[in-house]
Amino acid sequence: MPADLSKQPVFRFAPSPNGLLHLGHALSAIINHDMTKECNGRFLLRIEDIDTTRCRPEFEAAIYEDLNWLGLNWEKPVRRQSEHFALYGEMLERLIARGLAYPSFMSRSEIKAAVTAYEIDGKIWPRDPDGAPHYPGNEREWDIGKRRDMLATGRQHAWRLDMERALKEIEGPLSWRETGAGPDGETGEIAADPAEWGDIVLSRSDAPSSYHLAVTVDDALQGITHVVRGHDLFHATSVHRLLQQLLGLTEPVYHHHRLVLDKDGKKLSKSDGSTGIAAYRAAGRSAADIRALLL
Ligand code: GLU
Repeated sequence: MPADLSKQPVFRFAPSPNGLLHLGHALSAIINHDMTKECNGRFLLRIEDIDTTRCRPEFEAAIYEDLNWLGLNWEKPVRRQSEHFALYGEMLERLIARGLAYPSFMSRSEIKAAVTAYEIDGKIWPRDPDGAPHYPGNEREWDIGKRRDMLATGRQHAWRLDMERALKEIEGPLSWRETGAGPDGETGEIAADPAEWGDIVLSRSDAPSSYHLAVTVDDALQGITHVVRGHDLFHATSVHRLLQQLLGLTEPVYHHHRLVLDKDGKKLSKSDGSTGIAAYRAAGRSAADIRALLL
């Protein structure tokens, strides 16, 4: 169901507090803020801190400081995803009840070993658009008794979407409206291809919701009409469209923008402090300098 575009547009910037914001984040936040102003919309900030092992309060504090310094204003209170695990859990339960999610027990190293073994004589195991191998386990075929027995052992597991079943549940092809551009200049009405992601993770023992699940739930719940973000998340939109369709959530318009690259042409990393917004501030640069540098 498309978001109601006759209402006041709602934008969001949704950083994860697992490091300091860099120029790529500044570009995304500024574009979001400028688009909000242009169409007299609302601008929300959402803290995507589902990975409680890597997110830190000091990084969250730094996000507020950096965005304030850039001259951006957002509505308060800010939504913090770590405060809403119960809601994402409910959404997961809905998928489980419909037979669309299953518990998977292979660890990251077991997955790696299985894929390496398969590829040893030159065959290629399918990978998702980020380069991660599709899940090689066969738990999706287990009957309910075997699932229950394995869960009862208390072994660590991740809940995954049964992609094949999920695609059978939805009617017709999925697409989204792209007003920006993907990495290869894709724009306009884009055909979604969630199957290229395989059986995506919906929750893990150490992170009760995956990014994909939390982001689609929150975008709908917060009434987001325009998702503006870097084109590294362009292909992930296929998964978001599928989850929206399965869970009856609203579908925003998407606008993917260019990434800021380092001198070697690579995407900026939070671990490289030299491109951090805070480093520019400390070096005496102004918010206007940052705008001039990026836009
Ligand atoms: N939290 C994600 C990140 O920091 C962005 C999510 C989004 O914009 O959809 O990369």
